[in-house]
Amino acid sequence: MKTPIPFYLQEILTKVRDNRDGAVADYIPELAKAEPEYLGAAMCTTTGHVYSAGDDEVEFTLQSLSKPFVYALALQELGLSAVRDIVGMEPSGEAFNELSLNRDDHRPVNPMINAGAIAVTQLINGVDSEPAARVERLRTYFSRLAGRDLLIDDAMRSSELEVSERNLSLAHMLRNYDIIQDEAHDAVSTYVEQCSIVVTVRDLAVMSATLANGGVQPVTGDKILDADVCRLTLSVMSSAGMYDGAGRWMAEVGIPAKSGVSGGLLGTLPGQLGVATFSPRLNKEGNSVRGVDAFKLLSKDMGLHLMSTDERYGVNPVRKVEQDAELTVIYLQGLINFNAAETILYELMESDFGEGTVVLELSHITGTNRMGRRMLKEGLRRIRESGFDIAIVDPDGELEDRTMSDGTKVPKGEPEDYAINGEPV
Ligand code: GLN
Repeated sequence: MKTPIPFYLQEILTKVRDNRDGAVADYIPELAKAEPEYLGAAMCTTTGHVYSAGDDEVEFTLQSLSKPFVYALALQELGLSAVRDIVGMEPSGEAFNELSLNRDDHRPVNPMINAGAIAVTQLINGVDSEPAARVERLRTYFSRLAGRDLLIDDAMRSSELEVSERNLSLAHMLRNYDIIQDEAHDAVSTYVEQCSIVVTVRDLAVMSATLANGGVQPVTGDKILDADVCRLTLSVMSSAGMYDGAGRWMAEVGIPAKSGVSGGLLGTLPGQLGVATFSPRLNKEGNSVRGVDAFKLLSKDMGLHLMSTDERYGVNPVRKVEQDAELTVIYLQGLINFNAAETILYELMESDFGEGTVVLELSHITGTNRMGRRMLKEGLRRIRESGFDIAIVDPDGELEDRTMSDGTKVPKGEPEDYAINGEPV
């Protein structure tokens, strides 16, 4: 069988191709040379499957797409409190290059605007790092995220440095308030190098899927970031990734995202997917016109809106209940998280078990999280307290730690131990 996914992506590209609104960024002379017609899309699942369509091998510079990843690296290297000392987590509602710092403590409001990104970059590799060592640390980090060796576009880097008055003034402001220690020129130059790292739309999708996957690069299996770091990064991306368009973006598309003036756009669906598009013409907010269109379609057609309540509830975690005079077997299914466990416990509370033994049968569940496991065990303990025998059937060992809150263990049985009407469970 041939997978239909590249075909879906192609279909979306076909639908957005004719929109020639907007213009290629030209404030960096080298960026103005971009071919405006390029159009590509890619998707990477947290299981490491990569799909793409259109101009998926064309290379372009990261620009602001680098910002969430460098923020993540700073969180990984230094922890939240040190990073929060120099940059906030609030949406700015302003353009990416706004000359803005917090009124009271002079920190940049978030790491997605240039002021915040310049401040965050100078934390990497230790605040005392030489600029060259810092750049190399960034380049190797991005290479691990992409799963291949990435290079810096020298022409882009020097072109941007020549027109960096605005970013330099941000760096001077940051230095003035002791937010950064680097010389303003060094701070901007490091930041510009990070912006000039070259990727394809497929790289972007894989990098984004690494954030979706709790920091494990899903293709190489390389553990790059902690899950907590990814959660924080995605949170900030969701409120500030699209600059002054961030609120409308969340409403219309509902995928935490980040754009870059090169025309790249990446979106991350936690636990599911990294998505990326590439099309160089930008709208007035600096976001790719056809990229935004493509994300709207992706979100709608593929049902990817994070706030969608349509498909949120998944399967009923109670698959079926079988009972005879002495035995009640409750078959569970799907992912047992807080939500699922609540449904199960509610059902247990409402049930009339008669007497004898209550068994939770786990062979059809797809997984558990900590809270789900804790709640299941506590439910079982309480059932036992009210006079029943309890057990689980757990052939895959999903409930590895069977110790309950009173220190005793949930008894584990084999399917054949619990036959109802002569049928083993
Ligand atoms: N290097 C660019 C700048 O600082 C990045 C901006 C962006 O992609 N939004 O102006």
